[in-house]
Amino acid sequence: MYLNDLKEINLKETNLFTPRQLHILDKLGLLTVYDVLTYFPYRYEDRSTVESIESSILNKKPVCTIVRVVEHQSIFFKNKKHPKIIVEDSKMRASLVGFNREFLFKTMKIGKRYWLYAEFILKFDEIQTSTFDFEEYIENTPPKNFGKVFPIYSITEGTTVKELRNLVEKVINKYINEIADELPNYMINGHKLISKNQALRSIHFPENIISLRKARFRIGFEELFAIQLVVMLKRKNLSLNVKNFNYTKEELIKQTIKNLQFKLTNAQEKALFEIIKDMKNKKPMHRLLQGDVGSGKTIVAFLAMIFASENGYQSALLVPTEVLAFQHYNNLFKIAENLGLKMAVLTKSSENKEDIILKLKRGEINLIVGTHALLQEEVNFHNLALIVFDEQHRFGVEQRIIMAKKGNNPDILVMTATPIPRTLSLTVYGDLDISIIDEMPSGRKPVITKWFRKEVDYEKLIRFVTQELRKGRQAYFIYPLIEESEKLNAEDAIKNYNKLKRLFSEFKVGLLHGKMPSEEKMRIMQDFKLNKINILVSTTVIEVGIDVKNATIIVIEGAERFGLSQLHQLRGRVGRGEEQSYCALVTSCEETEDIIRRMEVICNYNDGFKIAEEDLKIRGPGEILGIKQSGMPELKISEFLHDEKLLKVAREDAINIIEYDPELGLEKHKCLKDGILKHLPIDYLYSG
Ligand code: ADP
Ligand code: MG
Repeated sequence: MYLNDLKEINLKETNLFTPRQLHILDKLGLLTVYDVLTYFPYRYEDRSTVESIESSILNKKPVCTIVRVVEHQSIFFKNKKHPKIIVEDSKMRASLVGFNREFLFKTMKIGKRYWLYAEFILKFDEIQTSTFDFEEYIENTPPKNFGKVFPIYSITEGTTVKELRNLVEKVINKYINEIADELPNYMINGHKLISKNQALRSIHFPENIISLRKARFRIGFEELFAIQLVVMLKRKNLSLNVKNFNYTKEELIKQTIKNLQFKLTNAQEKALFEIIKDMKNKKPMHRLLQGDVGSGKTIVAFLAMIFASENGYQSALLVPTEVLAFQHYNNLFKIAENLGLKMAVLTKSSENKEDIILKLKRGEINLIVGTHALLQEEVNFHNLALIVFDEQHRFGVEQRIIMAKKGNNPDILVMTATPIPRTLSLTVYGDLDISIIDEMPSGRKPVITKWFRKEVDYEKLIRFVTQELRKGRQAYFIYPLIEESEKLNAEDAIKNYNKLKRLFSEFKVGLLHGKMPSEEKMRIMQDFKLNKINILVSTTVIEVGIDVKNATIIVIEGAERFGLSQLHQLRGRVGRGEEQSYCALVTSCEETEDIIRRMEVICNYNDGFKIAEEDLKIRGPGEILGIKQSGMPELKISEFLHDEKLLKVAREDAINIIEYDPELGLEKHKCLKDGILKHLPIDYLYSG
């Protein structure tokens, strides 16, 4: 059995857990045996070697030491007496201050020895610690909670790290010996790797720091390799495809560029050139267009669509929301119509659906913009040659495959506003060619971002917004998703809408949320665009893509609930015109370290690249890049992602294997096929 096969064993079937434990695991998102085995600790406490109090001070880190209790004292703090235990190791004395831990006098007896884990600091001329863990030292008896490296898991309410350790251990004990290696022996030996089951055991319960390092290396390397293997296989398969259409005319696109209201930036021109070159090629395009929010990706995609039209082919632009679909359509259809092209929009609530579907089939519509509605089975094309996915992370690989099948080896362009470091893009987008728009249209001013505490400075914020509105500007007020319930979100937005109407009685306030009928959505967006509405209250339906130049303020309420890239996306709604724009982050909760860090990153950086890097550090690559949706093997260990040398090794291994055994038919590669490839989405390796 391979690790991946354990995705099919539900924890309920294992008979290892009580209902309460299953509930806790469920709350942590752990449903299968695989989930538990790959729920890696986020850090470890090294209690494997005994060090000194001095070493803790010198190296500014927690240490494991053995001390003797020499005296009991007390300190007064906030009118209360708290224990202060004086201990010493072979070199020096220190105080353990136990706030509200009266019991310490009983559990740490004078004269006795204890294992201790703590980080000491020098405070008031005294060596001190107030957070520490201890256990009595008994000669010739191994300690329970010392002498090893201990995993620290992220947990949820109702459980402890210790309990989680036990739960993980149960799963390991039951399954670990059945797990086979997905890497061939020659690779394991060649790279001096440890076996998969040893690595899995050690990553949870390492003997010492060296075995932990080996375990992380083994798993990290394998993950990089698995992704490269998939990428290379896919490239190989795709390279066998040939298009049955070709491009000869290039007039309309030139004319359109000339007639635009603005001049394309150099970066846009370069990206467009690369796309057109791909389209003229015999092999289908698989290209990623990457550019920060507001860098002008839409027009580049649209021009490529015009190019398809003038050569007689159909093209489709897929966007994640209805509002965005209408916006793109409204902005672009006139240009298309002036060129004698027919453009349409299709969403789930389009009234003339049947008509559109018929015309698409007959080839009477040249360009279509739409939401997921375009993926439906009834939607077919006459000769679909180009597909563009806007905000690609909102579309899963399966959806890309479904769409690609509506054409005959069509060209595919995916767009993203999440810039990522190059080494990482080789990994995650390794099967795509990449174009980058790294330049903003001229005349844009960086958005000024400030953090407001709701309780303290909300009034100040409202005064500021009022001032700006009086200058004729417009503002967004964004409210976070409260729960996975559109209804509740809508209710919340409505409540806040009424409140803002009172606060801003001299202005016109509009409301937009996901639950509204699409005509109303369209009307509200249109009114906002025409400045008939001064303030737009909204849930995150406007997160992606909305473009209104006169809106120069965005107030993000409950900012603590948004991730970095989401905040950056939201902020990207302003700063689209010549005027100075502002973004206000409003938080109304206790400030955790994580929240402070996120707010500071957004306040300090305007550059999406920088923010993506910070986001990577905080959340890890799996989530932010949507690796799950990408159809790639999972990536749980990220410390090797920036290791270019290692990435190269993994890549070369993959290239060699695919060259030598493209079908992975050899006995020695059976493990790769069954262990890694079997669980990928169907068809993934064979389509765009
Ligand atoms: P994004 O890359 O975030 O999708 P958009 O395509 O929505 O950005 O473009 C943002 C705004 O910039 C739009 O209003 C668009 O018309 C405008 N724009 C695009 N390219 C240029 C350019 N070269 N010069 C001036 N404005 C541009
Ligand atoms: Mg966009």
